Amino acid sequence: DCKRRSRNGWQVFTPDLAQKQQDRLQIETQLRRALDNSEFRLVYQPQVDLRHGGIVAAEALIRWQSHQLGELRPDLFISHAETTGDIVRIGDWVLREACRQVREWREQGLDFVRVAINVSYRQFVAEDLAVKVAETLREFDLPGSALELEFTERVLIEDAPATLRTFAELRRMGVVLTIDDFGEGYSALNYLRRLPIHGLKLSQLFVEGVPENRSDVAVCEAVGAIARSLGLDLVAEGVERESQRRFLLELGVPVGQGFLFAPGLPPDELARRLANSGTRPAG
Ligand code: C2E
Ligand code: MG
Ligand code: MG
Ligand code: MG
Repeated sequence: DCKRRSRNGWQVFTPDLAQKQQDRLQIETQLRRALDNSEFRLVYQPQVDLRHGGIVAAEALIRWQSHQLGELRPDLFISHAETTGDIVRIGDWVLREACRQVREWREQGLDFVRVAINVSYRQFVAEDLAVKVAETLREFDLPGSALELEFTERVLIEDAPATLRTFAELRRMGVVLTIDDFGEGYSALNYLRRLPIHGLKLSQLFVEGVPENRSDVAVCEAVGAIARSLGLDLVAEGVERESQRRFLLELGVPVGQGFLFAPGLPPDELARRLANSGTRPAG
């Protein structure tokens, strides 16, 4: 290893760090072109009723097939896209593509499907998200209730002045609002009372350890109690095993998603399952 003098003091410069910076530059360069090259697509992970497995909704998850870098998972590039600001354009594409897909499914008679999309905190700061959503719903002639927005607690920490108004407007349109990865965040719980949200997604970080790990059990029970007492919907993510499904059901969590049921699926595969399986309307 060699050492380089940085502005803030000594910094260890390892080949590993060099490689990371190289990767970051590559990813950021390729990201800028990815939208124009149509390198993104969405897959849809079913959210199922934990009692019988009927599909109640689906979460759109972005996939990037980079011509230069191959297939990259969102965990590898979303944070870069947030740093560069590209996430705003990418987020707009996700919103339009998801709505276009729901419109297509509705034409096929699958008219109860609600799709959840992930929204970055940067989209709340950079643009009037409520206006953007309203325009897109109008373009594809969809009711607000066909769309769910998942956002993380980061949105609340950034606390853009217009955030509360944006939430109120989205809610007025009937759009379903959910806090993603709940329990991973670091903010106080008092915002839960002020926000006009519908539900929480229990983070797979804690679902992973149940029913064996006692502290994970405790967190899941606490989140269940919070949701119940505030009248919020609760969806568990990362359900991989039958023992987890049973635990969650006993806890009173009605809906879950995870590899036990399905990973993110191409749209036609989700449509096939919707047409074949006993489905229940969401909500
Ligand atoms: P998330 O929103 O919490 O999505 C759940 C992630 O867990 C997905 O990873 C999904 O494939 C994975 N997963 C689902 N079931 C299981 C399971 O049973 N076990 C395990 N181990 N994992 C499971 P994915 O697709 O790689 O996405 C990672 C994260 O990237 C998402 O976490 C979300 O925060 C973000 N993301 C994905 N798509 C978008 C997008 O369109 N926009 C934005 N802003 N973020 C996105
Ligand atoms: Mg999500
Ligand atoms: Mg999540
Ligand atoms: Mg998660």
